[in-house]
Formats: sequence, structure tokens, C-alpha cells
Amino acid sequence: MRKYGFWLAIAFLIVGCASDDSNDVVDGPGNNGNANLRNTGDSAEELLRSDNFDQLEVELIYVNGARPETTSINNLKSFLQARLNKPNGINIVERNVTNDAGDDYSIEEVSDLENSSRTSFSRDQTIAVSVLFVDKPNDGDEGNSVVLGSAYRNTSLVIYQSTIERFSRSVNQPSRVDLESTVYNHEFGHLLGLVNLGTPLQSQHEDAENDRHCNVDGCLMFFQINGGNILDMMNMTSIPQLDPQCIADLQANGGK
Ligand SMILES: [Zn+2]
Ligand SMILES: [Zn+2]
Repeated sequence: MRKYGFWLAIAFLIVGCASDDSNDVVDGPGNNGNANLRNTGDSAEELLRSDNFDQLEVELIYVNGARPETTSINNLKSFLQARLNKPNGINIVERNVTNDAGDDYSIEEVSDLENSSRTSFSRDQTIAVSVLFVDKPNDGDEGNSVVLGSAYRNTSLVIYQSTIERFSRSVNQPSRVDLESTVYNHEFGHLLGLVNLGTPLQSQHEDAENDRHCNVDGCLMFFQINGGNILDMMNMTSIPQLDPQCIADLQANGGK
């Protein structure tokens, strides 16, 4: 069984996305082959192709009112519609939950919260993805080294919505929609198997120093867009797009 060894590498949009497995938590008794308990990237082909699943349902779960801008949700839907073969459509469902957590979230707590609040699961021709928007930061945040989102299982994302809002609310910061859309699309890119994470490379563009990320400057999956320090993102003025090599990988694995 593949361990969640690169969990940090694929998960951390911001912090030192590399070598530390210390937050590697979701590999446990529950990870037994159940459809929604597999590793990040394992559903890439199912998400991209229409053979097994011709419809996608994305369940957005807002914890204690942590909610994105409507435009950001629409941007995510457009991003997915452009790349996924889902002829029966992409449906977004939204729900609210309350949770009395402490001051922050470990990934274990995120996983527990998903277990207790997710209601959408793959069935028949529909594949389901859960996106949890939490209202407290990741427990590993320090200063300007923060986590904005993680792709922690094959159909599971967490977004640290309060942290996104903190870094997109004033002048000299990106617009909230730009930062939200960048994070949501980037993390979904990992579920689609980018880079070399379940979707095979068609050309060598994986960043040698930042596994599971693209080495093309400016690509949505380029680690340095988000790398190291949130301050590096503060002059962002548009939402990064996938570069042609990332798109070629997706197309070769059944996407469009
Ligand atoms: Zn990433
Ligand atoms: Zn790329």
C-alpha cells in the first residue's frame, strides 16, 4: 500500500512542500480500499474520463459559516468543465455544518470532520468530491508560512478559508476571488493527478525540487507561485492557468 509519504508535497500550497512526513495521518485502518479512502491522485482517471463516471458531484461543506465568494465557486466549475469529460454535467452542492473545534485544525481533525459531515459519495455513474472549508488555520502555520489548502485523499480537499480571507482582505493583497480560485483550482489539480501523481507525465515537467508540482514558471501547478511564503503571492493579479504540458498530461489520461 502506498503510504501518504508525499502528503506534504502535494498538500501544502504554501509551506515547505517537501520532505517531512510528520503530518502524514490519513493512512490508517480506514484506508482499506473504500472508494473515497484512497490516496491523492488515485481517482485522477475516474475524474477525467467519462467511461466509469459521466457526472461529477462536488460537495462544498462550509464549517461555521466559512464560505467562498460565489464567483470563486463559478470559476472552479468552469475550470473543471474545461478539463473533465463529464457529459452528464458537474453539479455543485453546498451545505453548512457547525463544529466546535479548538484554535486550529490538524489533518486528523480535518479527516474526522469530513467523516462526520460528508454526505456525497460516488454511486452509479456519479463520482463525488468533498471540499471542506474550515474556519480555523492549519496547526502547522507559523507567521507568513501558512497552509491554504490540502488535497489529502483521492476525493477530499480541505480549504483553510479563514487564512485565505486573512491574506486577501486589504490593499497590497490579491483579490479574494483570485486567491480563492488559485487555491481551489490548484488543489483540484492534484486530485486530477498533477503533477505525476496518478496522471502520467507526457513530457518531463515535474519540478525536481518540489515533487508533484510543475517546473513551468506561471503554471497553476508551479510550486513557486505559492512557494515558501505567502508574501510571494501577494502581488498576484490574475488566476494562474495550467500550462500546455499539464494540459497534455490530463488529455492523455482521458481529460480534455
Ligand atoms: Zn500543490
Ligand atoms: Zn504545468
